Amino acid sequence: MTPFHILLPCAGSGQRAGTAQPKQFETVAGQPMVMHTLHALAQVPGLVSGWVIVSPADSFDWPVASWPDRFRRLACGGSCRAESVFNGLSGMLACGVDAHDWVLVHDAARCLVQAQEVSALVQACSQDAVGGLLAWPLTDTLKTQWPGTGQARVDSTLPRESKWLAQTPQMFRLGALHDALSQVADDGFAGITDEASAMERLGLRPLLVPGSAQNFKVTYPVDLVMADAILRSRK
Ligand code: C5P
Repeated sequence: MTPFHILLPCAGSGQRAGTAQPKQFETVAGQPMVMHTLHALAQVPGLVSGWVIVSPADSFDWPVASWPDRFRRLACGGSCRAESVFNGLSGMLACGVDAHDWVLVHDAARCLVQAQEVSALVQACSQDAVGGLLAWPLTDTLKTQWPGTGQARVDSTLPRESKWLAQTPQMFRLGALHDALSQVADDGFAGITDEASAMERLGLRPLLVPGSAQNFKVTYPVDLVMADAILRSRK
């Protein structure tokens, strides 16, 4: 059982979901989405500590009775996801977490994650020199969009072989990930939409560990409906 920490970026505004409050706080299957995420992660063997990164302006009425042990909140979220993660990692180091420890970064908005998938990631990566991420092989045909004006039109079709959808958690050594993100901080984290992309910039090749098609990121209104139905079906 490899020990690890969890960092949960939870400081987004989630505008694409069309909800009045940030999507991670919307009620799904009877409780705020982020609480489903926390309860799934809290069950994973090896968890040492969890760090929920919220906005400095966070005003969410966090549940007290169902708050899981070993998790705490840090109000150091940034203006993009990568900045929230970077600030959270800095906060963990400032609190004395060892730079050599493993950290799993997981989106608050992936509330369908299951403990056994996370354990599979930890098992696959714990002996690896780099680390890795949960991912899912692309099944649909992939099109690029023609850059012309008007209605969206196809420019080309890309081969779907060898293409994966990146999910979370993404598991790296705390210090290594902090260093990788610090190198792109001056560019405003441009193009860094996940942790692996920062590691790739250093020439590293994170492991792709098969996750589940259900571990999608709630982004659009229809995703809230699907997440609700799947969570209810699991009860
Ligand atoms: O917006 P997006 O769906 O990419 O957000 C993914 C995760 O990153 C969400 O859990 C969201 O709360 C978080 N995030 C953040 N800080 C931001 C933007 C997003 O913690 N500035």
